Amino acid sequence: MADLVEETKRLREEFYFKLNATSSSEDLRDLQIFYLGRKGALTGLLKTVGSLPPQERPEAGRAVNALREELEEAIKSRRDEILSLEEEELEEKQWVDVTLPGRGRPWGRFHPVIQVMHDVIEIFLGMGFSVALGPEVEDDFHNFEALNIPPHHPARDMQDTFYVDGGLLLRTHTSPVQVRSMLRYGAPLRVVCPGRVYRRDSDPTHSPMFHQLEGLLVDEGVSVADLKGCLEQFAKLVFGRPVKTRFRASYFPFTEPSMETDVECIVCSGKDPSCRVCKGTGWLEIAGEGMVHPNVLRAGNIDPERYNGFAWGIGLDRIAMLKYGLNDLRVLFTGDLAFLQGGWL
Ligand SMILES: [Zn+2]
Repeated sequence: MADLVEETKRLREEFYFKLNATSSSEDLRDLQIFYLGRKGALTGLLKTVGSLPPQERPEAGRAVNALREELEEAIKSRRDEILSLEEEELEEKQWVDVTLPGRGRPWGRFHPVIQVMHDVIEIFLGMGFSVALGPEVEDDFHNFEALNIPPHHPARDMQDTFYVDGGLLLRTHTSPVQVRSMLRYGAPLRVVCPGRVYRRDSDPTHSPMFHQLEGLLVDEGVSVADLKGCLEQFAKLVFGRPVKTRFRASYFPFTEPSMETDVECIVCSGKDPSCRVCKGTGWLEIAGEGMVHPNVLRAGNIDPERYNGFAWGIGLDRIAMLKYGLNDLRVLFTGDLAFLQGGWL
């Protein structure tokens, strides 16, 4: 009996020591199983009651049962404490201040050059052209020879480029796509070819990579008037208002005659001699063009006796600069996030 009293006391002390250390419902459940479970410490104690002399059993049994009730009660009140603590903690975690401003997600948008590319394509789709794409790594035939630029031709100097192993090069214009389109579709033909092109050039107004959109129309009886009408219409639509244009004689190996198109300065309309955009000239160059050279038609497997046509090239980066009033070409390619997130609008 004395042993049992001693053991009851020890268990009781041990239990309260552990109870005070519990900090979660899980701890408490483990503690409950350890003392009050079917194989728990108290059940073990109850079993020893059976080995006592019969006259001592009722008292011992009462003592163990009293302890059981006490422990159950203690666990219950500790559980209430822990639950309310856990609830408080949860509230703390899930607390939301509905008066805080929302966290906005940044909007994605097209790069200004790509936006201009889409706008320009849209204009020419409206005139009945289709879009044709081609490889940026080209061979000499499609980039030069088929465009009336044989290996000895001085115009190759104007378009020095980057060479790749195996006689390949980075295309210097999107004209190779025109050659590929002629060979693939024949005449009559109306295509525009947008894309990246490369030259060995780098300063505030030139980048070694830039974007062009070239166009080609081949049919019977095409005239310079058709070419002028097409580009005048383009200038009006791309700047969103009627703009004065002028055509200047120029030279390209792949067209004859060749011209360049200027539009009236969209910033000063030719009225400010100190205008930085047009440098006081009043005009801005937007395209180079001409009637397709018979040699180019021949290289494209088209009979120049029956068909003729015109072609042009537009610098999309330049159009983007004019349209959005940018004064350094390089800002388009530095990846500056503030600019790309709409600083150009
Ligand atoms: Zn100007």
